[in-house]
Amino acid sequence: MMAKNLRDHGLGVQGEPNGKPSWKKIEGGPACPNCEGELAHVSIPMKNVPMLKGGKGNGVYLGCPCCPYASPMMIVSSGGKSK
Ligand SMILES: [Zn+2]
Repeated sequence: MMAKNLRDHGLGVQGEPNGKPSWKKIEGGPACPNCEGELAHVSIPMKNVPMLKGGKGNGVYLGCPCCPYASPMMIVSSGGKSK
């Protein structure tokens, strides 16, 4: 297994973070497959995502506060809206 310093925030999504991530605890949620800690739900704005029209979206994944584990990111387009 290869060690990494950073989580794979954009795993499978590419693109770049476009702001600060936020997270919330999942009550009764799944346990971390790595350390069995309680996973948190993480949400982060993304930009320059090739698979999205307009390139912007909101990425969500499950992350472990106790170790570097993070699930693959799912992304929801926020395109079409201009700020
Ligand atoms: Zn963990």
